[in-house]
Amino acid sequence: MKITVLGCLGAYPYEGQGTSSYLLESDGFHLLLDAGSTTLVNLEQHLDPLTLDGVILSHYHHDHIADLGVLQYYRQLYPSLTPVPVLPIYGHTEDAVHFSALDLDGVSQGIPYFEAEELKVGPFRITFMKTIHPVPCYAMRFVEEKTGKVLVYTGDSGYLESFVAFADKADVFLADTYLFEGNERHHAHFTSKEAGELAKAADVKKLVLTHLPQHGSLDMLREQAEQAADYQMPVTVASKNLVLEI
Ligand code: ZN
Repeated sequence: MKITVLGCLGAYPYEGQGTSSYLLESDGFHLLLDAGSTTLVNLEQHLDPLTLDGVILSHYHHDHIADLGVLQYYRQLYPSLTPVPVLPIYGHTEDAVHFSALDLDGVSQGIPYFEAEELKVGPFRITFMKTIHPVPCYAMRFVEEKTGKVLVYTGDSGYLESFVAFADKADVFLADTYLFEGNERHHAHFTSKEAGELAKAADVKKLVLTHLPQHGSLDMLREQAEQAADYQMPVTVASKNLVLEI
């Protein structure tokens, strides 16, 4: 499985950096995980957007869906010589207005996922866990069927003990770390300390900090997470175009 970071800031783009968006690839299948601002122009550097096979959304906050509409327009209006397949966009149904916007006639179709049901998308098996967040949001555990490799993406979440089981022994734990140590038990996001503690408790192989703050030292954010994880695994701060192969 190949994971390419397209955008990794929380809340709003800043100084040329976009918000939450990742491209997952396995066996020639390309799945976009969240679609924050700058997704489309960054995606173009890696993949013809017409060949994207699917999109999956953790929740409908703007910093995770800002580029979804323009991705739909791209596939609707690009002068392609061959028909562009209808794009499946997987999302939860707890927000009817946003879920219905996933449909665009002949261009994209919303497909619901549910916490209790495993979803099969291309080469991935995906399970879900509702997070602590002001709006319904789901963490996702991706298992690459061919290899058994695991990516766990927290979506956006405040501290939640059940991540210890949900992220158990993940090869990559891609964790919302919008806050520095000292802000624990926030209602919407992990702190660096919490990301490190959960990574250690879940015995993950690699921790990647994402949904990053615009201000403050990212080296400090990483050091706080490393310390909280007792230096048990490598800790990386996400950055645009970072590629992880697992
Ligand atoms: Zn959010």
